[in-house]
Amino acid sequence: MRLTVIGTGYLGAVHAAAMAKLGHEVVGIDVDTAKVAKLNAGEEPFHEPGFPEVLREQLATGRLRFSTDFADAADADVHFVAVGTPQRKTDGRADLTYVDAAFMALTPYLKPGALVVGKSTVPVGTAARLAEVVAARWPLVATHAGGGEAPRVAWNPEFLREGFAVKDTLEPDRLVYGVADLEPADASSPSSRSASEILDEVYAQILQRDTPRIVTDLATAELVKVSANAFLATKISFINAMAEIAEATGADVTTLADAIGFDSRIGRKFLNAGAGFGGGCLPKDIRAFTARAEELGRGDSVAFLKEVDAINLRRRERVVQLALESCGGTVYQHHVAVLGLAFKPDSDDVRDSPALDVAVRLNGLGGHVCATDPQAIETARRLHPQLDYAPTLAAAVAEAEVVILVTEWAEYKALTPESLAALTPARTIIDARNVLDAAAWRGAGWTYRGLGRP
Ligand code: NAD
Repeated sequence: MRLTVIGTGYLGAVHAAAMAKLGHEVVGIDVDTAKVAKLNAGEEPFHEPGFPEVLREQLATGRLRFSTDFADAADADVHFVAVGTPQRKTDGRADLTYVDAAFMALTPYLKPGALVVGKSTVPVGTAARLAEVVAARWPLVATHAGGGEAPRVAWNPEFLREGFAVKDTLEPDRLVYGVADLEPADASSPSSRSASEILDEVYAQILQRDTPRIVTDLATAELVKVSANAFLATKISFINAMAEIAEATGADVTTLADAIGFDSRIGRKFLNAGAGFGGGCLPKDIRAFTARAEELGRGDSVAFLKEVDAINLRRRERVVQLALESCGGTVYQHHVAVLGLAFKPDSDDVRDSPALDVAVRLNGLGGHVCATDPQAIETARRLHPQLDYAPTLAAAVAEAEVVILVTEWAEYKALTPESLAALTPARTIIDARNVLDAAAWRGAGWTYRGLGRP
């Protein structure tokens, strides 16, 4: 099939390459000229394991290319919209400027019968509104002058995890289609295919593996995505709330998580207490969900998400507090090394990253903060050029009095008291992800501080 993917960021670029791998002809369209040039040259604009390989492989087949020109969308049967929906600075709502702009730019190039499939995470009601926009503009579009079957809008939320994006796109644990034609009102054109039939053709290879597929209305599909993220955020903040109680009682939250996690109704995943969640999705999605629920007069239903957010932000503050305590009450002019800048390992994404936040706060308190990350230094530097970045772990810790591990990259998890002691004068480690063996570090003479651990 001929497809476009509008917006080639973390989601869209991976989706475009993955769709080409499924055998489709794909044009990725983005307004960012530099990004498009890089992608066409086979260079990944961001760090995502496995993506460079699939990008280069698919460019070489000739089935995948990238463009800044929406006219290149004209031949496609299906258009995926994967542009950003960041948080509005003023009120926490989702900023739909980019989604609206993408739909407006695309509409003049839609051919009769085309399907526009939203993948961006949007407030419930957005898809129905955009379907009306497309329907209203269709008769005005010069090239088609109202002829032929009007294009339709569907919503197909994306659940990929950064760090596993290629695998999650090619082997999703489920597919969700939100469609307006669940029960076609117009049976007079039986020849035209339903939106879900078209999506089934796009994902035929994935569906052959018995991947669960849920076809529902537009509103449910939009809500599936935000409620999944709300649930995950709540689970993380639940265990972080238990960490706060553990800190007041001398209990150990990691043992608590293991013990409750054995209950299959609870499960151990997402029960790692630490510096909390971040990234380009969970924080902004729970805030946008809260704002949307309030607009709908149902603010009370998700009021708990404000507490989920507050607990999450308090954990960053707790890491800062531990650093202060470790330096005798102030970090002013003390040397602190921060290991990790990305919001999670195997990514260079620093959007709303707890690690970067901790580094910035300690720097603001007058500390000599030296931060490092295997992949995210450049993305962090763009946002916070005032920080001191070290290219390697060794350089970051060379003068440190305190070392703080905030992003659990494999190479930081593999640190031992001996290997780190050889690189730094510090003998205090703050394990903001509870990934180190506390007893081993203490036994080797280090002061070890975890979150929610005695
Ligand atoms: P991103 O910021 O990495 O990418 C967005 C891209 O859209 C950018 O390259 C930008 O230049 C482009 N863009 C903006 N306006 C455009 C326009 N009018 N026309 C064409 N391109 C335009 O964002 P992302 O992380 O890829 O997220 C995209 C959407 O997917 C968001 O709604 C996000 O919530 C959702 N999502 C992201 C993930 C993830 O892990 N990153 C997972 C699931 C869902």
